[in-house]
Amino acid sequence: MRDFSYLRATSADEARQAALQAGAALLAGGTTLLDLAKCGVVEPETVIDITHLSGLGGITVDESGATIGALARMGDVADHRDIRAAFPAVAESLSLAASAQLRNMATIGGNLLQRTRCPYFRDPGAFPACNKRNPGSGCSAIGGVTRNHAVLGTSDACIASNPGDLAVALVAFDAVVDLGTRKVAVDDFFLTPGDTPDKETVLERGEMIVGIGIPASAAARHSTYLKVRDRQSYEFAAASAAVGIEFEADGRTVRDIRVALGGVATKPWRARAVEQALTGKILDAESVEKASRLAMEGAVSHGGNRYKIELAPRVVTRAILKMAQNIGVFA
Ligand code: FAD
Ligand code: SF4
Repeated sequence: MRDFSYLRATSADEARQAALQAGAALLAGGTTLLDLAKCGVVEPETVIDITHLSGLGGITVDESGATIGALARMGDVADHRDIRAAFPAVAESLSLAASAQLRNMATIGGNLLQRTRCPYFRDPGAFPACNKRNPGSGCSAIGGVTRNHAVLGTSDACIASNPGDLAVALVAFDAVVDLGTRKVAVDDFFLTPGDTPDKETVLERGEMIVGIGIPASAAARHSTYLKVRDRQSYEFAAASAAVGIEFEADGRTVRDIRVALGGVATKPWRARAVEQALTGKILDAESVEKASRLAMEGAVSHGGNRYKIELAPRVVTRAILKMAQNIGVFA
């Protein structure tokens, strides 16, 4: 890790201004930034500490939805009584992420901006070729070990999966990222790699996340997050699903269903084809299983990640059936 200068920002404006400099990086919980600095992926010249800024750590929930400050800790959001009641999938996605120690330190803004766990990306010494780290250098993963890589939203330049859990729940429920000067839907905030995998979000230099907003909905209230991984804790998703369902007054017909996938795509992935196939239908195991397969439309595997094309629809099916059973309306 090389030397850097340190600035303790006293206002969001000061932080934004300082972040305009090339080589500047904002510091929140530090659990990603420090990690990447240690392995040589990120070499900031200036670290701008935003952890002491006031007004960015709040969590409020009312009938219109939730507003969560960028500096709110993952653990505090996961344990928040009103978030658990109105947005169970959001709370569960956070409880199932990382470890208790990390959740106590890490922030919501930092969580959205965590980087891929592609091992080639994280090891510049051994693998110089990485289009995300070094544009135009190639991709060491394609043709390499791809067990954790994406099958959706990939390109010839990059197949790295987005590792976050929270963003999957957020994209399912139409959450919005608040940048202070503009607001961007979570679905539009994250970019697929295309020819420019180094550009992961629409965030421009000098911008910072000040919070997120999640609109209230019946589907969000009746939601869950299911995460399948190689071990039961302290592990990233092999495949995950955020699901929320609202039924019609008859208690059987789907009025609104939200489905998003994690662990399998280059960005948090809304599975709209699954939603469309089940809206207006009475759920049964067969129709759910059939619809869930639509989540893999356009999937492309690269050797070792082929299993995800089988696994992800099963995770979606399990999450939908679990939710329907929880609501007590399963046909
Ligand atoms: P920081 O490290 O401070 O910042 C991360 C990045 O975001 C930096 O580039 C920083 O400049 C930028 N940034 C921070 N705040 C802002 C802001 N407000 N505006 C603009 N830019 C900002 N995550 C999961 O979802 N699921 C897991 O299972 C999981 N497991 C993990 C296991 C380990 C061992 C580790 C180390 C991490 C794991 N994580 C997991 C990732 C973890 O959740 C993130 O490291 C954490 O959320 C980052 O938050 P932070 O506040 O520490 O961010
Ligand atoms: Fe780099 Fe993406 Fe290839 Fe991984 S998959 S080596 S992040 S270009």
